[in-house]
Amino acid sequence: MPEVYNWQLGRKMLYPYEERHPKWQFAFVFNINRCIACQTCSMADKSTWLFSKGQEYMWWNNVESKPYGGYPQFYDVKVAQLVEQVNPGGQVWNTRVGRKHHAPYGVFEGFTIFDAGAKIGQAAIGYIPTDQEWRFVNIYEDTATSMRALVDGNDKSGFTAAEPWRSQGSSLPEHETFFFYLQRICNHCTYPGCLAACPRKAIYKRPEDGIVLIDQNRCRGYKKCVEQCPYKKPMYRGTTRVSEKCIACYPRVEGKDPLTGGEPMETRCMAACVGKIRMQSLVKIGEDGLWTEDRWHPLYYTIRVEQVALPLYPQWGTEPNGFYIPPRHAPRGYIRQMFGPGVDNAIDRYIVPSRELLAVLQLWRASQQIIFRYDVIPGPKVFETQIHGRKFEMYNDTVLAFNKSGKEIIRIQVEEPIYVRPAERITWL
Ligand code: SF4
Ligand code: SF4
Repeated sequence: MPEVYNWQLGRKMLYPYEERHPKWQFAFVFNINRCIACQTCSMADKSTWLFSKGQEYMWWNNVESKPYGGYPQFYDVKVAQLVEQVNPGGQVWNTRVGRKHHAPYGVFEGFTIFDAGAKIGQAAIGYIPTDQEWRFVNIYEDTATSMRALVDGNDKSGFTAAEPWRSQGSSLPEHETFFFYLQRICNHCTYPGCLAACPRKAIYKRPEDGIVLIDQNRCRGYKKCVEQCPYKKPMYRGTTRVSEKCIACYPRVEGKDPLTGGEPMETRCMAACVGKIRMQSLVKIGEDGLWTEDRWHPLYYTIRVEQVALPLYPQWGTEPNGFYIPPRHAPRGYIRQMFGPGVDNAIDRYIVPSRELLAVLQLWRASQQIIFRYDVIPGPKVFETQIHGRKFEMYNDTVLAFNKSGKEIIRIQVEEPIYVRPAERITWL
């Protein structure tokens, strides 16, 4: 099997196809700390693409409550267990090697889904969820647990009022008792498990934007993509007998929506986000597969410079292009397992943000057009405080954003301006 370079693992890994990269890559950052689980994103997606017969159970976008929830149920635990069976105790990161551009989180020394698959004669290790596991899109919604319960293997019904960790639940920086929302779409992976698994070669990655699509005419419904995508994002449609998955709203990304006059536009689930947790863009990729330096690109800055947003389950090896600002209050051990060893650095930088990061974070959901570049105009200092013993200074900087053509589309300040409604417009007097 050929070897390809995976920068999220800091090493080469096995993959069924030779390395080849798109010029631009669809990528996004979700800020978990801001999500209110309103499911507007899920409904935007559902009402755009998923309202037909045979699609009733499909949610290309879903928001699940961690740690118990998952769509399909327990997909991540099951994938982790399958890899663990092939490589018991070996799923570890080497963080002593230092952080470099081509290995920002250290080196993963365990097995990816492809390494594990090679051991059992498959493209990747995986499983097909049962119909029951797809039944509830947000099962265990808002169900909290304690770290102790996770460690002891008790479920919620095992709690008693006398248990001491219940009273420790709300102390910061980490909550002993916690839950958080995890927003999920297809990651349009660099090394997709779905594409690797397809015996019909019906799945392809577009060279112009890295979006991963299933050719509906080539697909014969063998469900190998459903089995070997570790994120379980391809879904089988019984009425057409072929599989479907998130298409990244590609007509919008191509600028076909009349609203933006030909400029690339963010997907439906991104643009609809009420909590303003989502930003999507296209990032430049070099021939070596690494992100080309693009210092004033908001995703490049957030993911590669500040490293405040991290890939979900990077250890699975698909090099997902979805990144998350991890939940600041959840126990670190739990979220290190989800987002890798970069978690502590990411949370440190998020809770006391740099002047520039605070400015850039204002761009989340400020426009439906895709942002390709930003700039910051310095403003006066407006606030100063201590956060967890560290000094935090806030400046009322102005942040500007530009679309693909270089046209300014956003001009927004860090401090939200206050507008006082004139007396004649107050209707209750
Ligand atoms: S629309 Fe935004 S805030 Fe609402 S559930 Fe989706 S990601 Fe969370
Ligand atoms: S998330 Fe799954 S469906 Fe999407 S590209 Fe990656 S492997 Fe394929």
